[in-house]
Amino acid sequence: MRITDGERQEDDAAEGSLRPQILDEFIGQKALRDNLHVFIQAAKSRGEAMDHALFYGPPGLGKTTLAQIVARELGVGFRATSGPILQRAGDLAAILTNLQPRDVLFVDEIHRLQPAIEETLYPAMEDFSLDLIIGEGPAARTVRIDLPPFTLVGATTRAGLLTQPLRDRFGIPLRLQFYDVPDLLLIVKRGAEKLRFALAEDGALEIARRSRGTPRVAGRLLRRVRDFALVAGRPADRAMADAALERLEVDRLGLDAMDRRYLRRIADHHNGGPVGVETLAAALAESRDTLEEMIEPFLIQEGLVLRTPRGRMLGEPGWRHLGLAPPAAVVA
Ligand code: ADP
Repeated sequence: MRITDGERQEDDAAEGSLRPQILDEFIGQKALRDNLHVFIQAAKSRGEAMDHALFYGPPGLGKTTLAQIVARELGVGFRATSGPILQRAGDLAAILTNLQPRDVLFVDEIHRLQPAIEETLYPAMEDFSLDLIIGEGPAARTVRIDLPPFTLVGATTRAGLLTQPLRDRFGIPLRLQFYDVPDLLLIVKRGAEKLRFALAEDGALEIARRSRGTPRVAGRLLRRVRDFALVAGRPADRAMADAALERLEVDRLGLDAMDRRYLRRIADHHNGGPVGVETLAAALAESRDTLEEMIEPFLIQEGLVLRTPRGRMLGEPGWRHLGLAPPAAVVA
């Protein structure tokens, strides 16, 4: 388990208290927020369900939070499920038939829906109707059930894995980006206030810088620095944050041991690449999905790693971060 991993972990149950409740409290993602505001207002003034929305981007950037905010701002109910939880078409039918008009149904990890369930979803999204098969064998027949109009909010870390027909049914696709340091600083400061934790400005900045562009990681580092400060009986300033993050093996860029192993592997065993993602996954004993979903996006966004048609390569900042001199070809 990695402290800088954007995926939800057990300890993150505590993060509920840090969740922004309304759109105005949601920090960053300004363009996305402005658009969403318009779609929410338009749906409200028409008195209709908002169009289906797809939030996509790496884990921990606020997809679930935004889905809850959408429901709250629309003044409607919120139901949540996820792709892997829905095993049978009947599971989905039970949820859909219990929705109130204009409710938000949140489906996390929507790229992991079973094909049969996905097909049940098409008419539900398009015509608000459900085709149910009653009985078995020759006596089986289909009945069509009308559903209340609702808004499906899908979330995925891998938009590329969505089938085209499913993707086409979302009127509002919105991509979440990694957060910059000023936005993360605000998130950390707001979190500290909520936790009634006296965190110095320079301490907050240190956490923000090392949060891998991810609010979930920022919240997690904040809680750990708070623990260290409490036990050490020291003020939570930059030196304290630095010492705590050092102990957690989170480096200056927010990378952890796994990130560094990944970079090292490309440097030491492949002269900086290119190397195929499958080869890397096997060498690091991680799944390809884990690399593509959780490790690479931030490294690529920071230019530490480059994705090329022939495989992954270390970028110049990647070499420098490892304390190595980049080969001339990379610098040029
Ligand atoms: P995702 O669904 O994308 O994995 P979540 O919505 O569960 O991410 O967010 C993870 C945590 O980060 C939540 O506890 C939430 O409080 C916090 N968070 C996410 N986005 C923001 C934001 N823009 N401002 C403040 N906190 C945020």
